[in-house]
Amino acid sequence: MSLNTFCYTGFDNLKQMWLRKYESSSFQKDCEYLWNQVRPEDPIPAHLFGNMWSQTWEHLSDFLAPYPNATMFDVTEALKKKYTQDKAGVTEMFKVANEFFTSVGLHDMSVSYGPKAQVVKPADREVVCHASAWDFSNKKDFRIKMCTNVNQEDFVTIHHELGHIQYYINYKNLPETFRQGANPGFHEAIGDVAALSVNTPKHMMKIGLAENQAGISKESSINYLLKTALERVAFLPFGFLIDAYRWKIFDGTIKRKDLEYEWVKMRSEYQGVVPPVIRDEEDFDAGSKYHVPGNTPYIRYFVSHILEFQLYKALCITAQEYPANPLHECDFYQNKDAGAQLKKLLEAGASKNWEIILKETIGQDKMDASAILEYFAPLLEYLREYRAKMNYPIGWSKTAFEALVKRE
Ligand SMILES: [Zn+2]
Repeated sequence: MSLNTFCYTGFDNLKQMWLRKYESSSFQKDCEYLWNQVRPEDPIPAHLFGNMWSQTWEHLSDFLAPYPNATMFDVTEALKKKYTQDKAGVTEMFKVANEFFTSVGLHDMSVSYGPKAQVVKPADREVVCHASAWDFSNKKDFRIKMCTNVNQEDFVTIHHELGHIQYYINYKNLPETFRQGANPGFHEAIGDVAALSVNTPKHMMKIGLAENQAGISKESSINYLLKTALERVAFLPFGFLIDAYRWKIFDGTIKRKDLEYEWVKMRSEYQGVVPPVIRDEEDFDAGSKYHVPGNTPYIRYFVSHILEFQLYKALCITAQEYPANPLHECDFYQNKDAGAQLKKLLEAGASKNWEIILKETIGQDKMDASAILEYFAPLLEYLREYRAKMNYPIGWSKTAFEALVKRE
């Protein structure tokens, strides 16, 4: 009996077990399709990214800003002026984020950052600072754990965590089994949908964190979109490959003797990165990513990064913010119709197949990457022109990785 059949009752292998929540026999193919929709037309030159796994590239945004003299939209200074770096100040930041959700008619979430929650790093003990949101499954206790710092990045993370809490509260009256995201990607997407709206200069002005039109010139828009793309688009190949690699191990396509070789090969193929030094089968670089030894599925993050833009676009259409404005300028703040649409999705939890929930709430029954492409369209146009003008050399050899990994 193989290890896989031994452990997982009713499933042929661990891949089947992990994918069961997507309730779709074509799910792996669908992810391939989504990846092909967003993959660059040309290979990406890749060197060092300031991230151990090259999973996001935003550390390069200072070097790469297309218009270094235009504003880099950032409200960190404004936040620091307004809020103190302590529990009281941080709680005020949570209140502002909470108000975004209540402004569209969703539930108040004060309980999640109240006295029982941990919203700043405790001075007297070591804690795991990775931000998380918790459902105590008693229909009334929901808490966030976060070592919040007063800056724009954490302001966005607050919205991400509150998205989880909002989901918990909306489906709390369903039977326990259905108290989950429609599929695991949905749970990660909700707060980020809010964050896309909050991050617009228009919204920051409405809530008093930006004073003037700073950030809405065409140049600073491109700067902003590039910075966002280095984080959210550059993540896509990584978000996809972690499980694409493991699915191949689980179903036997990748043999044990080739674990490192196949990893390096897929990193080259999907992300366009190669290891800085020679590797062999004594190495197991994939194991450096927490989710691999932690045996945690990862495709939900790929799914959520696509879904987030799809849901955002649907809400922006409902709020009549789009197509009146470019998609990246849409703010559905205070729009009760958009809120009602999101609420319907949240209240359904996992009580139906996610494709049915998607159909009933936004009228589409498939995940689709056209919204993320639309969001970044002005940037894409800029990059195409830039490339043509500079005659910029693009691409990397598909076989260069071979020299960097020794095969048994
Ligand atoms: Zn999350």
